[in-house]
Amino acid sequence: MAKAIIVGAGIAGIATSIRLKAKGYDVQVYEANTYPGGKLSSFTDSRGYRFDAGPSLFTMPDKVTELFALMGEESSDYFTYDRRGHVCHYFWEDGTRYQMPSSEDDIAESMASVFDVDKQAVHNYLKKSARKYEVTAPVFLDRSLHKVTSYLSTDTAKALAATPQLDIFSTLDEVNRKAFGDERLVQLFNRYATYNGSDPYQTPGIMSMIPHLEMGVGTYFPHGGMVSITNSLEALARRHGVNYQYNTAVDRIATHNGRATGVVIDGETISADLVVSNMDVFSTYTRLLRDEEQPTSILEQERSSSALIFYWGINRSFGKLDLHNIFFSDSYKEEFESIFQDQSLHEDPTVYIHISSKGEASDAPPGCENWFVMINTPGDYGQDWDELIDLSRQRILDKVSRILGTDVSQHIDSESILDPRSIASKTQSHRGALYGTASNDRFAAFLRHANFSSKIKDLYFCGGSVHPGGGIPLCLQSAKIVCNLI
Ligand code: FAD
Repeated sequence: MAKAIIVGAGIAGIATSIRLKAKGYDVQVYEANTYPGGKLSSFTDSRGYRFDAGPSLFTMPDKVTELFALMGEESSDYFTYDRRGHVCHYFWEDGTRYQMPSSEDDIAESMASVFDVDKQAVHNYLKKSARKYEVTAPVFLDRSLHKVTSYLSTDTAKALAATPQLDIFSTLDEVNRKAFGDERLVQLFNRYATYNGSDPYQTPGIMSMIPHLEMGVGTYFPHGGMVSITNSLEALARRHGVNYQYNTAVDRIATHNGRATGVVIDGETISADLVVSNMDVFSTYTRLLRDEEQPTSILEQERSSSALIFYWGINRSFGKLDLHNIFFSDSYKEEFESIFQDQSLHEDPTVYIHISSKGEASDAPPGCENWFVMINTPGDYGQDWDELIDLSRQRILDKVSRILGTDVSQHIDSESILDPRSIASKTQSHRGALYGTASNDRFAAFLRHANFSSKIKDLYFCGGSVHPGGGIPLCLQSAKIVCNLI
């Protein structure tokens, strides 16, 4: 039986292990951490609050369930989830509150009642958003962009024909400004740039397809929290004979005569017929392939934003809050300039609060809530993070307390912190980027590293730092593309 080695048990590495097993490979996964999932993992603090460490928004659950079907299993026996009745609760400093429902009709209706917008304008926007997604997904998400055959299909021809409608030559902000006159609504739709760690004032208008995923396809909440995506898939892989070895960092990818021949761990070479790296592509080249030719222009690409997260155990419940909550900055453009141009943090940050105990009560002690409090940040370029963390903590507390009309600091029962440095050290993500490279360049989709090496045969790449990009659904797609290439 041909043998495959996967470096890393992030969500893409796990999905790749399942797909390669289905293809008949003997699959071995090596993971540096003592747990699976990389960014998609969880922890419980000493006061009994459970937190999903990274992702909190779950879309496109079919990308998970298809892996169970591939192995001949019923996903609902192991992995279950609900569609959310409300997508997100938005707060502005001027007192505006908007609780976004989950169906397009309700969204248009409710937006027209809260904002200065006509219902039809919202419908038109969402229709265009769906069209952009439907035309481009088969080209960008389902196959390698680095194989000539990908350009010879009818899907590609359709996408190219639709280019003028894809808003590639405008920024997301320009597209949103054209669609909506109400500044708050422009801000709400600009926020979707952050779903892949980009800047709405630079990223192309094609990103206006993202609302379709949230508002049309829906947002979901997995029972047991986001980590159940990782745990149920890792268990699926193991049930079918994939071997996972934890606490084992790969030091090198072994090559011979232009082929990947295995990996080196603690000086020992373990042979394989092919190697798939789920390690960030930057770190894969600079550490595991340090003697090989480096694809310098790819490695120098701008990275996506990172994040600062306070995991707060809160000793009371807040009826005004939902599962997903956004407290908007009053100076959104300046906030993104701080992140992407100054590599610093703005004094009035947009604050995201995710409270999984709103859906899964056992995630916090009775009467309490588990707050995942996140602001977008630049990557780690050697800033004084300890100082920035202290500053940001106060700014966040001031803002959220002001808007909720309660001194939140009085209710913090426990605290843990994740910052760009710790994201980088825990997952080997270059600069602590959440989503690999940024999508600020209009050609970003074409510039990401391919899912295979053009120089080293039998070497493949999956995960958020390579095509088609970051976020759980795209990472799962990268596994599919890799396995179709093999
Ligand atoms: P990673 O999670 O990066 O894991 C890589 C794994 O490889 C790690 O476990 C690491 O230890 C291991 N590894 C690295 N080097 C080696 C080595 N040499 N040897 C062995 N093992 C190694 N996405 C969403 O869809 N929705 C969200 O709401 C969302 N929010 C996010 C919030 C935060 C705070 C973060 C950090 C990310 C968020 N994301 C979100 C992005 C999403 O988490 C990532 O895109 C995705 O999880 C990345 O998966 P991956 O497979 O690329 O691997």
